Amino acid sequence: MSADQVTILNLYPGHMNVYGDRGNVLTLRRRLEWRGFGVTVIDHHPGDAMPDPPDLVFGGGGQDAAQAFVQRDILTHRAQLSEWAENGTPMLMVCGMFQLFGHHTYTVGGSTLPGLGILDITTDAGGARLVGNTVTASDEFGALIGFENHGGRTHLGSGVTPLGAVPKGQGNNGIDGFEGARYKGIVGTYLHGPVLPKNPRLADHLIQAAVDRRFGPTKLLPLADPAVDDARASALTRRR
Ligand code: GLN
Repeated sequence: MSADQVTILNLYPGHMNVYGDRGNVLTLRRRLEWRGFGVTVIDHHPGDAMPDPPDLVFGGGGQDAAQAFVQRDILTHRAQLSEWAENGTPMLMVCGMFQLFGHHTYTVGGSTLPGLGILDITTDAGGARLVGNTVTASDEFGALIGFENHGGRTHLGSGVTPLGAVPKGQGNNGIDGFEGARYKGIVGTYLHGPVLPKNPRLADHLIQAAVDRRFGPTKLLPLADPAVDDARASALTRRR
């Protein structure tokens, strides 16, 4: 086992894992291991206790029914997750889990489902689903490539900033032109795909934050990503 261990908490991999979202954890693991870090992934399932403070937290997307199911469990961990969020733990929350980190989202039956309230966002039921390939223009991470498929419409409060604008796609709600949200170390997004292998700058941002917090300021070895560069060039020119 490497001396430099990084721990990733993977929220609800059995329920919230649509459109390849589990690839995000694989990407974090590989990019850490290629740089000589050891990685422990702790899968959190409904009913499990929360572990010691992790270095990084991931949660993916899911169907409405799965989302309603895990909502009951996640609310029992609100204090712990809030504490980690407030102290700056890097977190990536995609789609369904992004929604559940907000004040409320909606249920399968259309009623309101309270969320964690960690992110100053609200999500309401919408009409047609927002589906398709997307590109988010982020000041910090450049073009973020992904795929969206959500019925909920998310609106940002003043306590968060958008992850970026959407030159291609519908984003948070199909109206205001924004995609995702950021607060402290949290990145929330609708981008599936999975998002991290397609966007290594975002993956390395999360990794950098995790290792800096764990080991002090750390220089990450650069990684060559030729296959990713090719895939990104192709994705940036494809139709929606
Ligand atoms: N069920 C939620 C919605 O449709 C989240 C979907 C997802 O995570 N892909 O808005």
